[in-house]
Formats: sequence, structure tokens, C-alpha cells
Amino acid sequence: MSFKVKFWGVRGSIATPGPRYVSFGGNTSCIEVSCAGQRLIFDAGTGIRNLGHWLTKKNVHNAHLLLSHTHWDHINGFPFFSPAFKKENHFTIMAGHLAPETGGIREVLASQMNQPTFPVPIDIMQAQLSFEDFTAGDVLNLGPDVRVTTTPLNHPDGATGYRVDHNGHAFCYVTDTEHVPGKPDERILALIEGADIVVYDCTYNDKEFASKVGWGHSTWQEGMRLCQAANVRQHVIFHHDPDHEDIYMERLEEEARYEWIGNTVARENMRLRVG
Ligand SMILES: [Zn+2]
Ligand SMILES: [Zn+2]
Repeated sequence: MSFKVKFWGVRGSIATPGPRYVSFGGNTSCIEVSCAGQRLIFDAGTGIRNLGHWLTKKNVHNAHLLLSHTHWDHINGFPFFSPAFKKENHFTIMAGHLAPETGGIREVLASQMNQPTFPVPIDIMQAQLSFEDFTAGDVLNLGPDVRVTTTPLNHPDGATGYRVDHNGHAFCYVTDTEHVPGKPDERILALIEGADIVVYDCTYNDKEFASKVGWGHSTWQEGMRLCQAANVRQHVIFHHDPDHEDIYMERLEEEARYEWIGNTVARENMRLRVG
């Protein structure tokens, strides 16, 4: 088997608890990918809290945490990631979008845990934490036959898209990003070419997008067009708008499946297998 993918948080912008978000889930971005005996975690939104408890239960002590960027919805679960408080664990935390003047990924994660907005400083975390900044576009070697390619995305303050190649299969994580209508993003097309699974920023639909230009997000139809153009097998509709309640998402799911059999709408706790 090549890849196992589990969705721990699929919502964008802000967590959405409550009875109208039961079926698709309310936690923000967090995806776990297992391959070649390694664990990769994409983003540390509120979904990472439940993932943390799961990793402890499964006796997992090492992982790479790859951040798309550092807007709240992608990092605010980090202070609640319980394995980071245990001495026996080791995490490598990587980001590719930060300019040197931000102080890098450690500084940004530490600053969200500073008083008076959070009572527990990052230094209390007992796990061995390695922080690595790279430049979006770099290739990261995360182990034998796990090759990670990255590319910059079109998003305020920057963001990084990822592709993981292993054993002849590929998984891509492409959020948050805004497209230009009628002009497919060449960098994304190159990143996702021939991939098995592409998780894409589908905050809006094409109709809504007209009034959201400049907000840094894309549409499920654009994700589908990119995936079809790049011969991708499965397009995962992700980063759901907080206003898109279950009833809306169910209609979207029906429409998207009708449009193309390769469309899948992400739900919290959904699992996918590749290879
Ligand atoms: Zn986001
Ligand atoms: Zn963002």
C-alpha cells in the first residue's frame, strides 16, 4: 500500500461547531498522510487536536508537520496538539512562505502562544521540536522514497502547495490559493500533473467567486478544471466556507459528482487509500 490519508479538519477560515455542520465537520484544516512508515501532517488547524490524541493512542512518536501557511485556521490547533507536550516525541515543523523578517516558523508559532492571548508559552512543550524554514519551490527529502515537491500559491501573506511522491503514486495538498478566471495556474498544473489525489482550496463556487476576488481563495469548479487538465484521478473539495452548512454541502456534493466522477467532497474523519 502506498498512501493512507485521513481528514481531521476540512473547514476553512474558522471552526464551525453546531448542529448544521455535523455531516461535513467543523474543525479547520488538518490532514494526516501515512506512507513508507512515515507520518506527514498537513496543517495544524483545530482538527490537529483529535489527531494528537489518536497519535498518542497509536504510539506514534515522530511526524513532519508541513504548514501551507500561518493564517489562524491553519495553526490555531497547534497549542492543543498534546503529543508536543511529551518528552518522548519528535516533530519537524516546516513552512515555506515566511519572509526572513517574520523570524521564521518558530517565531510565528511562538507568538500565537504568547501572553496575554495564550497562557502557555511554546517553551513548555517538552517534545523535541525542529523548526525548518524553506522557500516554496524547494524539493524536500523526507526519507527513503518520500519526495516532497513544493510551489508558491497565490494567497495574501503567501502559502505553499505540496506534492508527495512515493512508490509511483502522488498526493497533493493545495490550499489556500486564488485563481485568475480563464487563466489556469501553471505552477499548480505542474505540481499536480498525473497525481492520484489532489486536495484543493474550494472555498467558493464560481458564482460566489465574482464577489470574492482578492480574498485569496478558489472554487471547486476551478479545482476540477485544473485536475482534469493535469490528468489527476481524484479531486478533493476542501477548505469549506464557514457559511456552507450541511444542507448546502450535500447539494454541492451531488452537483460535483454529477459534473465529474473524479470529484470528492472532504468530510471530517474521511479516509482515502492510494496504491
Ligand atoms: Zn485557510
Ligand atoms: Zn489563508
